[in-house]
Amino acid sequence: MTQPLSIAIIGAGLSGLCLALALHQEQIPCVIYETRAEPLDIGGAIMLSPNALRILDQLGVYERLQPLGYNFDHLYFRTETDQLLDTFEFGGKDKFGYSGMRVYRFELIKVLLAMLSEVGIAPQYGKKFSHVVSEDESSVTWAFDDGSSSSASLLVGADGIHSRVRSYLHPDVSPTFTKMVGVSASVPTSQLGVGKDYTLPVTIMNRKHGAFIAAPQRKDGSEMFIGKQCPFTEDLDRAGWDRVLNDKQWCIDFLRKGQEDYPPIVASAVSRLEMDKINLWPFYVIPKLASWMSSKGRVVILGDAAHAIPPTAGQGVNQAFEDVYTFSRVMARFQRSLKGVASMVLRRWQEKRQLRVDGVLALNATINKRRLPSALEDPMAAEGFDLGWLYNIEYEEFVEEITGSA
Ligand SMILES: Cc1cc2nc3c(=O)[nH]c(=O)nc-3n(C[C@H](O)[C@H](O)[C@H](O)COP(=O)(O)OP(=O)(O)OC[C@H]3O[C@@H](n4cnc5c(N)ncnc54)[C@H](O)[C@@H]3O)c2cc1C
Repeated sequence: MTQPLSIAIIGAGLSGLCLALALHQEQIPCVIYETRAEPLDIGGAIMLSPNALRILDQLGVYERLQPLGYNFDHLYFRTETDQLLDTFEFGGKDKFGYSGMRVYRFELIKVLLAMLSEVGIAPQYGKKFSHVVSEDESSVTWAFDDGSSSSASLLVGADGIHSRVRSYLHPDVSPTFTKMVGVSASVPTSQLGVGKDYTLPVTIMNRKHGAFIAAPQRKDGSEMFIGKQCPFTEDLDRAGWDRVLNDKQWCIDFLRKGQEDYPPIVASAVSRLEMDKINLWPFYVIPKLASWMSSKGRVVILGDAAHAIPPTAGQGVNQAFEDVYTFSRVMARFQRSLKGVASMVLRRWQEKRQLRVDGVLALNATINKRRLPSALEDPMAAEGFDLGWLYNIEYEEFVEEITGSA
């Protein structure tokens, strides 16, 4: 049976907006529903690596983003006595096709929204997905919190780490707090008092107080993101985290604590902090999921809803974009014959995507090991990472391997 494919997306975050654009490029109609009343600006920048930039280039987003982002090729790791410990590639035009980019999350959201608006797609705000009502071989019906309901041939949950769509597939899974938080701020780069030769973005390791990060942002690098990660024993609900974030003095004290045990750049960085430039990120994870889709194949999750990735290798949003793009390419191949074969193909898509996510998790573990106090004793023990597998992915081959024999 052939039928026109219609896709409903829950969540207008980075995954949901990018998915809508990718589906539009494949001429697949879609609608987006977002619980918030308007696009959310949580502040802060994200780091985009070549695997995601290649996708954004394919979608026409990259050329609009490039004038807004700060380009860099390496992340540097230094000891508490300011010795270079380790270098991690995050991009490189010759080797990977693109330099890495730091760009404000909200700038990217604005670019995606503008491009969607140009093709007549507007997210419906103030629509909170509640639950799936029914699902059969050809469609799915769901309800919103306001009592209304809707149907489509596929429902995609791009609703983040605390996904409600996921609870339809996995009622027993809930995110686990890793007992780590990141507190960040932005300051003028000149405040750090470092010369042009100082290696940036930098993570300064410290056994007692945790890692301190400084990363330039804005096109010209005139602003510096600074942040510290540290253990935080108490798990809180959303209101609790908002209370911590709104306790700006706590955040400032947290950023300043132990500054004398780091190189002087840290004391300079935290010397003047503006309350409205402070952010908090509690790190949550979810267990590896057996399935990213319902048994009838009409409900799918992707992005943070399917696999929240700790920030170590900076791949959270980059992997979400990989999900989105490969999903749209796979759907394009099967939009004429969604029934039956699609769930088999989607399962293969999930398996191959999970392999990539597993690779990133293994990379995170290797990086963490290299940042242990024992590694601080012997900086020279660090060997270079080979990241070609991560950054030089061939998407058409990836999709061909999924759909080729279906
Ligand atoms: C402070 C911070 C800094 C980060 N920095 C980086 C970084 O530098 N690099 C990186 O790779 N990753 C970073 N991440 C992680 C990255 O932000 C996530 O991987 C990415 O945002 C996931 O996108 P998503 O669209 O899947 O989920 P989200 O961005 O969480 O979006 C989900 C959307 O769904 C909506 N929603 C939720 N429930 C419902 C519902 N029931 N009905 C309708 N809509 C709903 C939400 O309001 C939201 O708009 C950071 C995260 C945080 C919090």
